[in-house]
Amino acid sequence: MNTWLDISPESDFSIHNLPYGVFSTPSRRPRVGVAIGDQIIDLAAVAMRGYFQSLSIELEILEQPSLNAFIQLGKPTWQAVRKRLTDWLTQTDSPLQHFRKECFVAQSEAKMHLPLEIGDYTDFYASEAHATNVGTMFRGKENALMPNWKHMPIAYHGRASSIVVSGTDIHRPKGQIMPKDSDQPIFSPTQSLDFELEIAAVVGKDSELGSSLRPEEMEDYIFGFVLFNDWSARDIQRWEYVPLGPFLGKNFASSISPWIVPLEALEPFQVDGSEQQPEPLPYLQTSDNCNFDITLEVAIQPEGESEAVVSRTNFRNMYWSVGQMLAHHTVNGCNMRVGDLLASGTISGNEPSSYGSLLELSWNGERPLKINANQMRTYLEDGDTVTLRGCAEKEDIRVSFGEVRTKILPSL
Ligand code: CA
Repeated sequence: MNTWLDISPESDFSIHNLPYGVFSTPSRRPRVGVAIGDQIIDLAAVAMRGYFQSLSIELEILEQPSLNAFIQLGKPTWQAVRKRLTDWLTQTDSPLQHFRKECFVAQSEAKMHLPLEIGDYTDFYASEAHATNVGTMFRGKENALMPNWKHMPIAYHGRASSIVVSGTDIHRPKGQIMPKDSDQPIFSPTQSLDFELEIAAVVGKDSELGSSLRPEEMEDYIFGFVLFNDWSARDIQRWEYVPLGPFLGKNFASSISPWIVPLEALEPFQVDGSEQQPEPLPYLQTSDNCNFDITLEVAIQPEGESEAVVSRTNFRNMYWSVGQMLAHHTVNGCNMRVGDLLASGTISGNEPSSYGSLLELSWNGERPLKINANQMRTYLEDGDTVTLRGCAEKEDIRVSFGEVRTKILPSL
């Protein structure tokens, strides 16, 4: 598929991708856009010229600081917009060519915003390697996986208010910590600040309270995917998490990439899920082809130095699929709403170089990680910048998530 736009073959945003985001410039208020090459198509500018009239998309839906109203229009509309943009980018004499100056904005001139109003965010724990590593560190190898783990996708309800977009710095959180060899907690900035490499699915359709979804309904209920960095303060987490689970060690911030990659763009990268033994209960049984082949990496850049990639892994190794997460989440009648996020949980592979958190990479602080000639890390230090990247690639199709980049600032 060739476009008349000049796009580098290494670009994150090929004609096969067309991810959605919310952007602004000094002269354009926050609005909906689609990334292509190093440009953004301003969908509001397209609508203003009447080119979405036949799809019944009102201008005000695209002139909003979130994608929720657009997503609410439903899958047939997303598909029609994607088809139309693809046609316009591949055919000469198209509206996008006629109004090139009005309809395109250079990404370098745009500010990206949080693309969604996120009502609810749920964090799963769906990577077997991650759950096994964490369980081994805290309970020993024999009891690494809890008895429920292979019967259901384990999750907790996270906090939506503190989800921020790439480029938003975060301050080191403070809290109660129980020092080693002590029985009195102290109040302190966390000494164990960690990232978690995750992918989050964006819910694209409301489900009814009281009804349940089947795993294969993922196709209709998921709009797209973003990179998700679920920041964690391990020392705060360790002291607080019994008996009700994660709280202040997790909810101070999570960071997402600004561009939502549509499910349709990832269809060429669907692969079989993991073999599941024991067989899950019927409501969790799923067809083949339910995982996604997406390569992922994490880089750490100490202040004033060059970055080092500290982990490389793949989303295809997840034990539980996104469809199974959706089915489990709704099996009791809990409803989904447009803009909700379902995060995968830390994505780790079997090799130490593919672990998706510093907790695992430094094995609970026992094996400091070499970043470069001068720098070692067990956990993150102030001034560090953490970047997650993700990309699906096959033959001449490249669909990249771009990145989510965050700098750690000292405690306030
Ligand atoms: Ca997590």
